[in-house]
Amino acid sequence: MIEPLREKVEKLNEEMNREYYLHFSGQKETLELSKIMEKYRDLFSKEMVEKIKESNIPEKERFLAFSLRGYLEDAVKEDVDKLQTELAGRKVKVNGEEVSFYYARVLMVNEPEREKRRKIYLRRLEVVEETNGKRKEMWRKEYERVKELGYKNYTELCQATYPVKYKDFLEKCEKFLENTETLFFDRFENLLRRESRVRLGEAEPHDGAFALKLREFDELFPREKLIPTVEKFLLSLGIDLKSQHNVHIDLEVRERKHPRAFCAPVKIPDEIYLNHLPAGGMEDYDTTLHELGHVEHFAWTERELAPEYRILGLDGVSEVYAFLFQYLLEDEGFLKEFLGFPDGVAKRFADLYKLVHLYLVRRYCGKFRYEMELHTEMDLENGGKIYARSLREATGLLYPEAGYLDDLDGFFYSADYLLSWFAEAQLRETLREKFGRKWWCEEAGEFLKELWEMGRKYTIGEVLELAGWKEVDISVLEKELGC
Ligand SMILES: [Zn+2]
Repeated sequence: MIEPLREKVEKLNEEMNREYYLHFSGQKETLELSKIMEKYRDLFSKEMVEKIKESNIPEKERFLAFSLRGYLEDAVKEDVDKLQTELAGRKVKVNGEEVSFYYARVLMVNEPEREKRRKIYLRRLEVVEETNGKRKEMWRKEYERVKELGYKNYTELCQATYPVKYKDFLEKCEKFLENTETLFFDRFENLLRRESRVRLGEAEPHDGAFALKLREFDELFPREKLIPTVEKFLLSLGIDLKSQHNVHIDLEVRERKHPRAFCAPVKIPDEIYLNHLPAGGMEDYDTTLHELGHVEHFAWTERELAPEYRILGLDGVSEVYAFLFQYLLEDEGFLKEFLGFPDGVAKRFADLYKLVHLYLVRRYCGKFRYEMELHTEMDLENGGKIYARSLREATGLLYPEAGYLDDLDGFFYSADYLLSWFAEAQLRETLREKFGRKWWCEEAGEFLKELWEMGRKYTIGEVLELAGWKEVDISVLEKELGC
């Protein structure tokens, strides 16, 4: 059964990624992912789940995770499409003008006046509240399928194919929250007062989002220097972006192009896209560097590897490489060498970028803790309280109860992200030990290519072992961020 399964996994990945890329790069008006899912429906049936469970195929867990996930998503795919369409069409009033729900977020995070910003925030929150009934219904359907498959709860279903024990990992995350608490709240309070003119304890998520954009540095990140900077950095690793024919950097301006940067690995390693619509400023650089980490990982993946090692497996492995490139921005040496930052400015920016980094890791610790409770109890009525409490403790911001299903990704993606954040700091430490404080050199490029060649074959734990670590160690990131 494995050959036809592999073939379908390969085709599905290609079709989904191509559709995603074409739509969000503005080259295809509609997004018809559920139509593609429908074509491959037999991969995501209950029968397929049972068949894989009973089989002896190699890497059974990867196929099972893929099929389980598909079976749960299959229950709600029409609802997801409907909700997306509804939200895309919803309008909210901003300064007397009707703007779309999504665009209102852009206006919100860029609005320096607190009262105006807060108004947009509340209007958007109303829409979230009004649509929560639909979200609840979707989760109810997924939870039903969990039971039907014989799992005690959603957590148990996800745990069945996950290489790390959630409960143990959550303990590490809670330790991280504890160890970084004083440092984080001191620095974050300062930033909030200065940027958003609000005290911690009164600050809401929109105040945090505005402050964390670090807009005062935007002019140090010019749009026209983005690609030359990226090219120069890759050259230092011995990679000539211009001669990578399997990599397509799409920066073209199209009317319907989505502003979010993303990587679409249509064929790994032969057809990899990086889509972006640069607008100028820090965010152009951090998102492009992040996506470039994914791009190079997939572009160097060994073609001969079986689909289960190139396509299936944890996304978190690729995130390690994405974070490795993204967090070059918290390296003073990089800022000076590649962006020409003066000494003092480099230090100030790097420190603030580390604060953004710390905020995000703490936020995800809060999310993960909430998700563990929600998905173990499967109590959709009280989730809002747990969400708001956990996120407030982790970030200090007054997160609203109503966001509990909107701010939620399935299958504990939060845990994947957290593992990658901790592992990235360890990999960076290894690179510095091997190649020096400014680790970017051709030898480091060779070292990375050897890891990238293995695609998603190894788990994060195994990648860390190859880099000389015994296990995930939160203290490396703590130290890196100034604890
Ligand atoms: Zn990523």
